[in-house]
Amino acid sequence: MASDEFDIIRRYFQRSELAFAAPGVALGIGDDCALLRVGPGQELVMSMDLLQEGVHFLPDSDPYLLGQRVLLVNLSDLAAMGAQPVCFTLALSLPNADPQWLERFSAGLGVVASAHACPLVGGDTTACHPDHRVLTVCIQVHGSAPQGAALLRNGAQEGDMIYVTGTLGDAAAGLMLLQGRARDERATPAQRQALIAAFHLPESRVRAALRLRQLASAAIDISDGLASDLGHIARASGLGAVVNVDALPLSEAFRALIPPQDHLALALGGGDDYELCFTVPSDHTEMLEQQMREAGTPVACIGHIAAGSGVRWQRDGETLDLNVRGYNHFPASGTAASSSQERR
Ligand code: ADP
Ligand code: MG
Repeated sequence: MASDEFDIIRRYFQRSELAFAAPGVALGIGDDCALLRVGPGQELVMSMDLLQEGVHFLPDSDPYLLGQRVLLVNLSDLAAMGAQPVCFTLALSLPNADPQWLERFSAGLGVVASAHACPLVGGDTTACHPDHRVLTVCIQVHGSAPQGAALLRNGAQEGDMIYVTGTLGDAAAGLMLLQGRARDERATPAQRQALIAAFHLPESRVRAALRLRQLASAAIDISDGLASDLGHIARASGLGAVVNVDALPLSEAFRALIPPQDHLALALGGGDDYELCFTVPSDHTEMLEQQMREAGTPVACIGHIAAGSGVRWQRDGETLDLNVRGYNHFPASGTAASSSQERR
């Protein structure tokens, strides 16, 4: 590496908009460990995501966008728990110490860290093995929630209504554009740009999620596609889910680019949405919708929790025979990727 790791840490990762002081952090970067303050009656909420070039993001991704995306994707897990972000740690395995790349990447991280008052408090920085020069970024986010208040996957009850935030399938459509797999003349340049932006910079649902604590019975963030992720809520809750496919929120840009026969496959199985899917007791839905309006977060009610198991897809009350599967890193056949998207 051109400069040593301590130099890299000091120059790029101890920058003020990234490693700032915060109430939940007693000690940040520089010692063997960071020290966190978790207030009385609070639980520490933690999650880790490892992202590898060529699997989770495209080779030669713009480092400024990548820095934002990797932190947004991690914060999405905190949102899914209804947790308040406190801080994060960062492990990097670098193919080389390119100052321009490090500057842009750490600036991107800083944008999202500042916006969420969630500073960087530690990490690890290494060079890749010379025979395996692949960038790997691992982030662990730390959040807090009042004891017993975090939103779990297993709390859905029969009769609860199922909601999603935002729109589905945009990021998957954006990825198709980036990979040249979409007939892009179908959408306007602005629409194409919006879809690509949805892939690079998922909307943060952290603030909306804090309002869900009192109202939702279960929640998950949609990373592998609604079909898979709503399936997790149903399984964890020991119940089934019924979804009206005509109620699925699809953006204008998505509808313009993607032919109608492909809408469901992409919106339900495309992945990378990082929207929230959650369930709400039916007597709380009015309050929920008002809270989400106040938060400026669009939500759509797409179905309900019912007896049974698995997710049932319906149109006009008729059950549809859909075979949508989310992304799986280790499919049964033993081959790398289960879907046409070789990326995650
Ligand atoms: P140690 O040898 O005790 O594990 P390091 O020499 O690896 O510590 O790191 C020195 C300090 O810099 C530690 O506080 C560590 O958490 C922090 N650090 C290392 N890499 C990063 C990084 N990529 N981002 C933020 N902090 C980092
Ligand atoms: Mg040490």
